[in-house]
Amino acid sequence: MSCPTKRKDKMNLFEQMKTEGHERVLFCSDRASGLQAIIAIHNTQLGPALGGCRMWPYPDAAAALTDALRLSRAMTYKAAMADLPLGGGKASSGAIRKREERSKVDRFRQRGRLARRTVHRGRRCRDRSCRYRPDASGDAACRRTSGRKRGSGDPSPATAYGVFCGMRAALEERFGDGSFQGRKIAIQGIGKVGYALALLLHKAGAKLYVCDMDPERVAAICKVTGADPLLGHEIYRVECDIFSPCALGGFLNERTIPRLSCEIIAGAANNQLENPKAAILLKDRNILYTPDYVLNAGGLINIAEELNGYSKEKAYQKIEAIYDRLKEVFAFAKKASILPSEAADRLAEARLAAGK
Ligand code: NAD
Repeated sequence: MSCPTKRKDKMNLFEQMKTEGHERVLFCSDRASGLQAIIAIHNTQLGPALGGCRMWPYPDAAAALTDALRLSRAMTYKAAMADLPLGGGKASSGAIRKREERSKVDRFRQRGRLARRTVHRGRRCRDRSCRYRPDASGDAACRRTSGRKRGSGDPSPATAYGVFCGMRAALEERFGDGSFQGRKIAIQGIGKVGYALALLLHKAGAKLYVCDMDPERVAAICKVTGADPLLGHEIYRVECDIFSPCALGGFLNERTIPRLSCEIIAGAANNQLENPKAAILLKDRNILYTPDYVLNAGGLINIAEELNGYSKEKAYQKIEAIYDRLKEVFAFAKKASILPSEAADRLAEARLAAGK
């Protein structure tokens, strides 16, 4: 991952930071481990930034930077809408030199040290592709890391629970009935969140359709829930009540939206809309979009509970409020005749302004 060094790139970055309101962007490089990471802190108006470390094989630094900037901004809005005293931050890292020579725990340990040296306004947690279980020494180097095994643990089940609670609000909004019984739900991505969500939905009586790039994960969930497996592109076309994006962001765009045959979009993936036009396309197709950062805040709420001394019971009670927040978003969207995505943004911005 080589960093943008041309003067023009630097100017563009400052321009982008100014437009989107980012406070700080850190480029970290550790010669010994080969670790390279970008840490973006978007907004600390409501409290210290808390966000995940995403490990991904980014093609270049620009892609890692774009991801960190977009995701850290979403974290600000997510924390605001979850009524948490936290700001938004995110780290992206990839392209690790001498990969084969370094164990994953080594790299996490190094990243913990790097972040400790460089960030004084943030707390970190895990994100996509972080399936490790740090040992004691890894934990020691990551003292400012939340969502560790000895803390609240993997946030994914909590995220799935929040999505499940929020889906109920979306069903009520569209059908006037929040029951999952007999509802058809298509899940794209059976990773940590998608898998846990599928289990909850199955238990609640939904009929599931699933796809993932990993056939083993698909086979495992189909065995447990009786879900119908689909190939990647088939998931868009399946006739269903809810289409649930739980893989990567940006999958809702001009190419995929015309293919959809669903009533509601409600999933865990961050930044599902490729651009603002995607929200308009969904409205034109009369598909109800459930703003992603409101719906997928369960993991963040669970991790934030660590700051009060962790109690799973209390955390899960707070996660259930995602249902109420979505009701608030849908009601405001209706009252102001705006899209749900716009309504969520305005409500989050009002919370940020109030906390200034
Ligand atoms: P994960 O990496 O465990 O799972 C993602 C899954 O999506 C993988 O199994 C992968 O094979 C699959 N996938 C990737 N591209 C695909 C494609 N084109 N078609 C079908 N499947 C595809 O990640 P996760 O932790 O389950 O998170 C899922 C999404 O939810 C991510 O966008 C993440 O940013 C977001 N999210 C996660 C959490 C959390 O607590 N883990 C919290 C908030 C948001």
